[in-house]
Amino acid sequence: MANNNPSTENLSVDELREKYKVERQKRLRSDGIRQYQDFSGEFKDFDRDPYVQPGFTREPVTQELDVVIVGGGFGGMIAAANLTKAGITNFRIVEKAGDFGGTWYWNRYPNAACDVESYVYLPLLEETGYMPTEKYAKAPEIFAYCQLLGKTFDLYRAALFQTEIADMRWDERANRWIVTTSRQDNLSTKFIVIAGGVLHKAKLPGITGIETFKGRTFHTSRWDYSYTGGNSQGLMDKLADKRVGIIGTGATAVQVVPKLAESAKELFVFQRTPAAVGVRGNKPTDPDWFKSLKPGWQSKRIVNFTQAVTGAQPEIDLIEDEWTRMMRVDTRKLPDNDEEAAELERIDFENMQGIRQRIEQIIDDPKTAELMKPWYGQNCKRPCFHDEYLPAFNRPNVHLIDTDGKGVDEVTEAGVVVNGVEYPVDLLIFASGFEVTTGYTQRLGFDPVGRDGVSLSQGWKDGPSTLHGVLSRGFPNMFMISTVQGAQATNFVHSIGEVAQHVTFLLAHCLEQNIATIEPTLAAQEDWLQTLFGQVGGVARYNATCTPGYLNGEGGGDVRSARAMAWITSVLGFANYVESWRTTANFAGFEITK
Ligand code: NDP
Repeated sequence: MANNNPSTENLSVDELREKYKVERQKRLRSDGIRQYQDFSGEFKDFDRDPYVQPGFTREPVTQELDVVIVGGGFGGMIAAANLTKAGITNFRIVEKAGDFGGTWYWNRYPNAACDVESYVYLPLLEETGYMPTEKYAKAPEIFAYCQLLGKTFDLYRAALFQTEIADMRWDERANRWIVTTSRQDNLSTKFIVIAGGVLHKAKLPGITGIETFKGRTFHTSRWDYSYTGGNSQGLMDKLADKRVGIIGTGATAVQVVPKLAESAKELFVFQRTPAAVGVRGNKPTDPDWFKSLKPGWQSKRIVNFTQAVTGAQPEIDLIEDEWTRMMRVDTRKLPDNDEEAAELERIDFENMQGIRQRIEQIIDDPKTAELMKPWYGQNCKRPCFHDEYLPAFNRPNVHLIDTDGKGVDEVTEAGVVVNGVEYPVDLLIFASGFEVTTGYTQRLGFDPVGRDGVSLSQGWKDGPSTLHGVLSRGFPNMFMISTVQGAQATNFVHSIGEVAQHVTFLLAHCLEQNIATIEPTLAAQEDWLQTLFGQVGGVARYNATCTPGYLNGEGGGDVRSARAMAWITSVLGFANYVESWRTTANFAGFEITK
């Protein structure tokens, strides 16, 4: 039932500003990104792949290659598909998981879905001829699509699954990289493409006592259906007599909570910062509409979405969803004058006020509704769009345990402690997200050794240096597809695709021209950094007002992380820049040897 709690309806601009400030202040912590821990040491078991049969073995591979691609997610697959189309097939793809898919391999939690429209998110739809079943595709469909891409572009023959990089080293005399793996493969290759993922390294909160918990526990990206029962659609019958706790209320929790709510005897949702949850409105694809799309439609639609969510305001909004409505104006933009500043602030406040009013309308209990209201700007955290998350809190078996911005105090053998109260649970789920702003090699899980025995982490000890985010001096022929000094977008696959296109252009040129080495000059790297800094616009200023999260380095950040920044305003800026460079610059900025 709707309630008419008017508590936040009529706050003045000054009161709202103050409220945002207070809520941010509550959450700032001196340990910033160091508050989290990874799946190493005593938490190693969290990293076990629950989706493969144990005991897999294969013969080691020894091979001379043109390219080793690291990562079989969308980045690696798009690069591999592009190379294949360019006639380059002497490559291998090294992938930790048991199949292609990356994010969509790991994230199989019930109700997982992509929050960006499938017609712009799923790459190469025109080439595979695949019609997504819904406007917002669910994870199993996306995972199956990754497998279809693998088959369409004959990538399975190149894959080395369940395999991790043990060592990657530049051989100066041979002008080749020598790659060894956890399965004793020995690969000698001219070029490397590292597509190690964006949100792939899961993290745990640094809460005291996690290791002491005696019940079952896992991270959302390693879902244990053998414990919960059920499948990606929910129906987790084994939870019917269980008390379940979930820590985190980000985009992942928003999707999984409704299914846990339906299945568990009792569900405790431990909240530090509420999510902003707008309307979803999913619907099946109309096959007639899909058939009517003219060749070239997908790239146009992808650009249209990105324009629509970065304030470029295309004449026609092809997507027409809450993303494009809410992000129509880029409220992070540097205003030209005080009037525009006030207008941008008003738009942002209004959008978030809409989100808060939706909570009041949906949540029955006014106290719960109040606790679930997000008090931060619309770009501070990734907004969520969901129609079942908020109603789940009206169920009698669902309990919101708010921590007033402080986070959970402690995990004990039996459960979770907040404000001195222990909540015993049988299953404790961590929806605590992924590393985003930690060091690049820490996230990769290996440290390439380039010229003169210098590792990438040593070379980048003061922060990353690249040209276009794709090559770094001292690491010849080692291409990277990442957000580090590269591109980023609301539609991750758009940004990954643009970087992958640039990488494959460079790589194909090198192979065609029999180029022995390619790497940027120091001057070009410095220029690129200044170009990136020049794009910051109002984003840094906006982020500084935000409640902590991965988008602003948990409210901290230093020079090193500032240097890791992508082309921050819009992937279209990055794409236009590198496209014009490709057509006019004659490889300026790169040192090339034959
Ligand atoms: P997030 O990093 O967004 O969320 C982590 C959650 O854990 C936050 O709510 C955080 O609170 C909470 N948390 C951390 N430490 C503690 C603590 N000590 N006590 C209590 N709570 C704590 O991770 P997600 O996995 O939800 O999402 C990560 C990203 O993955 C998304 O932003 C999105 O980009 C992507 N994603 C995309 C989807 C899609 O549809 N395309 C779907 C799901 C995820 P706090 O906010 O206070 O830090």
